[in-house]
Amino acid sequence: MKYDIVIIGGGLGGLLCGYILSKHGLQVVVLEKNTVVGGCLQSFRRHGVLFDTGMHYVGSLEPGQVLYRFWKYFSLLGDVRLRKLDEQAFDVISYGGMRYPSAMGYSGFREQLGSFFPHERQALQQYTEDLYRLSVSSPISRLEEVEQILPLDAKYVKTSASEYIGHLTVDAVLQNVLAGNVPLYAGEKGRTPFYVHALLHHSYIQSAFRIVGGSQTIADSLVASIRRMGGEVWNDSEAVKFTGSLEGVTGVQLKDGRYVEGKRFISAIHPQVMVEMLNEDMVKRSYCRRMRHLENTVAGFTVYLAFKKGKVPYYNSNFFHYAVPDVWSCAEYTKDDWPRGYLYMHQAPADGGAYSESAQIISYMRYDEVRAWAGTMVERRGEIYRAFKRERAERLIEALNREFPGIKEQIEFYQVSTPLTYQDYTGTVEGAMYGIARDVNNSMQSVVSVRTYLPNLYMTGQNTNSHGMLGVTNGAMLTCGELIGINTIIKAINNA
Ligand SMILES: Cc1cc2nc3c(=O)[nH]c(=O)nc-3n(C[C@H](O)[C@H](O)[C@H](O)COP(=O)(O)OP(=O)(O)OC[C@H]3O[C@@H](n4cnc5c(N)ncnc54)[C@H](O)[C@@H]3O)c2cc1C
Repeated sequence: MKYDIVIIGGGLGGLLCGYILSKHGLQVVVLEKNTVVGGCLQSFRRHGVLFDTGMHYVGSLEPGQVLYRFWKYFSLLGDVRLRKLDEQAFDVISYGGMRYPSAMGYSGFREQLGSFFPHERQALQQYTEDLYRLSVSSPISRLEEVEQILPLDAKYVKTSASEYIGHLTVDAVLQNVLAGNVPLYAGEKGRTPFYVHALLHHSYIQSAFRIVGGSQTIADSLVASIRRMGGEVWNDSEAVKFTGSLEGVTGVQLKDGRYVEGKRFISAIHPQVMVEMLNEDMVKRSYCRRMRHLENTVAGFTVYLAFKKGKVPYYNSNFFHYAVPDVWSCAEYTKDDWPRGYLYMHQAPADGGAYSESAQIISYMRYDEVRAWAGTMVERRGEIYRAFKRERAERLIEALNREFPGIKEQIEFYQVSTPLTYQDYTGTVEGAMYGIARDVNNSMQSVVSVRTYLPNLYMTGQNTNSHGMLGVTNGAMLTCGELIGINTIIKAINNA
């Protein structure tokens, strides 16, 4: 059978494209290498306790807000249970011995931070206005039909988030507090564009929700919808080679020997992995070289905590802690001062109750720390690796215990993931948390277009537009827009 569309990768990007194109009546197949689909949407259970591996909270989901409109179109609203984070403190930035809560809604956000920084009310006004202006600056972001897709204003793309914040205020504490959610995009000082920070922060200030039952429910809902519309999603189907020529792709060879033919192809996997899958006749050297040289975001180390039953009250905020004066410097840790910072989040209780079953602590970890075990298999990396994981997990738990005294005693058991785990489970190069790093100093070179040089091969997912629920959703719309017209999709979303 020759499919209209073959999508490689069953993470959020691949599944959203599968949904849009199946809904449009095309014969779609999504190929996922793992037994469980979802990529960074995967959740897992140990001894019955649920943990999310990637996506933890989603913004802009109040009626009328942009992701609400998308989710209505993607039939996710009925299938995925949400729990709103604390409206007065969806994020808490723990910095310099103080805790700064972020409130939802622009006026609440300004008021609350303004009470800590009364002399900086003007800067906070400016900050929220700039975030809002940027976030609605393109017709696409307002889901309006367009004659052509225009890039974001250069000033947002060429100014780094740290530079913008540095100009906004001279108050070093406020600078760090405003940048305190930096682990959500693995931002780098002087490099990460302001738009990456702004789109994400705007979305969460609008409204922020946890997913009850785990982010896997998003993937499961999308798979069920795709199948209902006649599309196919195959798990255990690792793509290893594209066949074809410079005229175009003809098919995909799977690891187990199966071969899938198609008319058009979407790569929803890391672009550096994709270029290695092109056969000799299809390679354009300059393009492949450019892809290979793209830099990735830093990787992460996560401790998944299972709590003793009925002992730990549910904490309805995301806690960003810093043990250093510069929140942008956490990836430059030394072996002695790791972790310089971490993000601590509870899993929303399935029963809606007052106590938590589980939580995650996430900190940066450079791939170099685990490079020695690259190429080894999960669960077979040996005792030194196990000891390394144990030592780091305990350090992270100690750091958490300093901020939440006594929490250590309430842990029933814990699990750990390293950059190698992410690399193995999602195919992301060196376990990069959010794929390719955007860089203001190299703005054109660090952006991966949804079009490739091959006429029927497209890309989608966090490496193209931006990462996260909002970035990947917008990216899926842009990729499918190349195939069926962006206004067709925008119309369908607005009519949903
Ligand atoms: C720790 C962490 C926390 C996060 N928290 C949030 C959050 O709170 N909110 C938010 O909005 N975003 C969050 N994100 C980001 C968000 O989860 C991702 O940006 C998004 O899910 C990426 O989707 P994707 O489809 O681009 O890539 P992936 O999820 O990486 O999907 C790629 C898929 O392709 C498959 N694949 C790879 N190679 C092959 C192959 N050869 N053949 C077939 N299949 C293949 C993989 O198995 C995977 O399923 C987080 C990410 C991480 C890592």
